[in-house]
Amino acid sequence: MALDPPMPAAPGQIALFVDIDGTLLELADRPDTVVVPAGLAGLLHRLYDRLDGALALVTGRPLVDVAWLFPEFKGDAAGLHGAEWRCGGAKAAIHQDPKPLLAIAKRFEALAIAHPGLLVEHKGPSVALHYRHVPEAAVLVEAAMTAAMVELGPGWQLIAGKAVFEILPAAASKGQAIDRFLDHQPYAGRKPAFLGDDVTDESGFAAVLNHGGLAIKVGPGDSRAPYRLPSVTAVHHWLRQLAGGGKA
Ligand SMILES: [Mg+2]
Repeated sequence: MALDPPMPAAPGQIALFVDIDGTLLELADRPDTVVVPAGLAGLLHRLYDRLDGALALVTGRPLVDVAWLFPEFKGDAAGLHGAEWRCGGAKAAIHQDPKPLLAIAKRFEALAIAHPGLLVEHKGPSVALHYRHVPEAAVLVEAAMTAAMVELGPGWQLIAGKAVFEILPAAASKGQAIDRFLDHQPYAGRKPAFLGDDVTDESGFAAVLNHGGLAIKVGPGDSRAPYRLPSVTAVHHWLRQLAGGGKA
């Protein structure tokens, strides 16, 4: 039975990591049609101050999307499930030749033309195939992805999210991104907390639990996270409390 997450008594000792889609923002039909609610930028700003900067967004989106969605956000971020990472002046990225993936992505484009509603998302070192609008194509999409993985060989991983399959460098994970933040200031020595809603967030939960931190799953579904918030709205409420109250 998942529990309501506790409110940390000393926010100044917390290092906070937050997923974006399905956690901070409601899921949309397409990644580029999400809506950033009024007040969310202000909430992130208050949290950033309250946590002395120990606040990072940890997302499957590329880092350029973080800048697009939250142009005023001063905190750090990890993108592409950890394949891209920035912290203060420090940067890291998993470098992998994207050429084999380009050929695969072209084939996915042909599949999307044959099955209207499928959406190919090109993210540089990764490619995602969304089937939210054609749930009956899930088996077909998975088969195409599995065949692509056989062709690509080691060095790549296939992950399944909510109505999406994605191929990305095998070394990328939200867990390793969080571990890397925790080696840097202002995160080092703090108790980590991570909020996420999807299967790809499980490695992040494992990382914070390894450090004795708070793992908080958003919405339904199995998870190793001991704590649960039911919705994006509940996430905003919890974050407002952590920021010291006030409007979101
Ligand atoms: Mg998510």
